[in-house]
Amino acid sequence: MAKKVVSDLNLKGKKVLIRVDFNVPMKDGKITDDTRVRAALPTIKYVLEQGGKAIVFSHLGRVKTEEDLAKNNIAPVAKHLEELLGQKVTFVNATRGKELEDAINNMNVGEVVMFQNTRYEDLDGKKESKNDPELGAYWASLGDVFVNDAFGTAHRAHASNVGIASNIKESAVGFLLEKEIKYIGGAVDNPAHPYFAILGGAKVSDKIGVISELINKADKVLVGGGMMFTFLKALGKNIGKSLCEDDKLDLAKELLEKANGKIVLPVDTVCAKEFKDEPGVVKSVDDIASDELGLDIGPKTLELFADTLKGAKTVVWNGPMGVFEMTNFAGGTLGVCEAIANLTGANTIVGGGDSVAAVEKLGYAAKFTHVSTGGGASLEYLEGKTLPGIACIEEK
Ligand code: ADP
Ligand code: MG
Repeated sequence: MAKKVVSDLNLKGKKVLIRVDFNVPMKDGKITDDTRVRAALPTIKYVLEQGGKAIVFSHLGRVKTEEDLAKNNIAPVAKHLEELLGQKVTFVNATRGKELEDAINNMNVGEVVMFQNTRYEDLDGKKESKNDPELGAYWASLGDVFVNDAFGTAHRAHASNVGIASNIKESAVGFLLEKEIKYIGGAVDNPAHPYFAILGGAKVSDKIGVISELINKADKVLVGGGMMFTFLKALGKNIGKSLCEDDKLDLAKELLEKANGKIVLPVDTVCAKEFKDEPGVVKSVDDIASDELGLDIGPKTLELFADTLKGAKTVVWNGPMGVFEMTNFAGGTLGVCEAIANLTGANTIVGGGDSVAAVEKLGYAAKFTHVSTGGGASLEYLEGKTLPGIACIEEK
């Protein structure tokens, strides 16, 4: 079954509530990366072109204290949206009340109203984040139809997604969410084989769910990043001062047994004496000295990974191969980017906050079939979990 998409709705003259993900990085009230705002434009523009009235809203950061209100004021994002759309965006500095209701009731077709950070409602009893039933019903009452285009929060049941969807007659996903469902959902439900997963990042404990799921579904699971060392230690190797979760050694052993040869581990690593951006030394994983720590996968491992990936039809990647933030240890992540870029005829998907940041920093985003817009959400989706923000939307 497929979810209704915004293009399945009749939007003419309708008040369309659009939940977007404008949780952008900000410094001193200025947006430092507007990717998420740009990513929401197709859905907003479509609603306007179809003769709808666009009521746009999002969360921004976390709101726990009074100070968080000023820090996470979403007004600058509304201003930026106005520039990108090239038309007026009426910003309402409230999340409820007469001013908001009047602004919405006075809208003409083709106009945009944006209201304040949905998490302003968290200050008093976490109404947004705990999906307070009254709040979801109230927001739903402001519009005729609901469009969810925020993937970043799709793994959470909040008032601004699930709350609204359960209180409104018609709902659909936006174009951004449609893409996430097509690619990540496609890899979860019906991947073309050979299907290879590449997992990295800092900790095994963050990725247990996804490793367990992928050793069932994928043909091979390539493991790099900090978490490789817990696996290597579980095999009895000396990993020196490398990142390791000793309480996860038994689990790592168990996963290796269950994977029955599907897990491919690195054969070499770039080591340093300290966690510093200075040139490292390539060591076989059998020769790591006690005073060393591995901060990247080595060149032999890269070759092994690139060979394994040949002929892939589906590749899913989550978690950097090394400490890519440091130039001296970005080689593994860069190499994997290249290996994926060289594949022909494969659906290639990268998800995860840091992995996506790495792919963008290294200039490879355009080489992927799909670069996910959600960190935690993409991980939970890959784990095979049901995402409430998608589940709440009507089927076609
Ligand atoms: P994602 O956000 O893509 O899911 P994670 O948050 O799991 O990824 O992990 C990303 C972090 O892992 C990065 O900050 C990176 O520096 C770190 N990392 C990768 N390899 C190592 C390593 N060998 N030792 C320590 N940290 C590492
Ligand atoms: Mg991360």
